[in-house]
Amino acid sequence: MRGQKIGLEIHFQLNTGKLFCRCPVEGHQETGTRFWRTLIPVQSEMGGKMDRAAIYERNRSRVFEYIVTDNSCLVEMDEEPPHEVDRKALLTAIAVSRALHCDVLPVISYMRKVVIDGSNTTGFQRTAVVGMDGYIETSQGRVGISTVCLEEDAARKVKEEAGRVTYSLDRLGIPPHRNINRAGHKGRGSRCGGCGEHRLHCILHWFLRRGGRRP
Ligand SMILES: [Zn+2]
Repeated sequence: MRGQKIGLEIHFQLNTGKLFCRCPVEGHQETGTRFWRTLIPVQSEMGGKMDRAAIYERNRSRVFEYIVTDNSCLVEMDEEPPHEVDRKALLTAIAVSRALHCDVLPVISYMRKVVIDGSNTTGFQRTAVVGMDGYIETSQGRVGISTVCLEEDAARKVKEEAGRVTYSLDRLGIPPHRNINRAGHKGRGSRCGGCGEHRLHCILHWFLRRGGRRP
């Protein structure tokens, strides 16, 4: 289709330990403890404005219930500050960035992305850009890789009913690794369809053997 641009975002979980605490990624037995939170929007530090989406979510007056599991701690409950980032997860993200010909950033900083659906007890998700401006060679030509990110996964939704959403903390904080293909292909869809499938498959399988985990 003429003028069409397509970008892909690929997520993989890393089997390295959670990103900001030393809890394992495996294990999901319930401990019998549950707690509840509600959303209270506050003014932004940028101009004192209120996030419209947060106000909308508050007006829904939903209660978020969290199931504590044997692979979660006070960090997942947002009762303790995050620990230092998991070194093995960071090194894996750097290795994948290099395999995808990305420029690895000299300083890797974590950003906070507002989350209003209760899927994170903090109300935000921590994400870091590790690599940028890479590429992968394909039979159809070179496909750009915009960014490689390392971020914490959201809590797993268990059920949703009137006015209440229940999440399990077993998945919260697992480091997903994220590749974003550049949305820069115009016209023929064949290049996007191929999208370096074989080479990307090989790279991701390589890192799966070295600590990756299928989502
Ligand atoms: Zn933990």
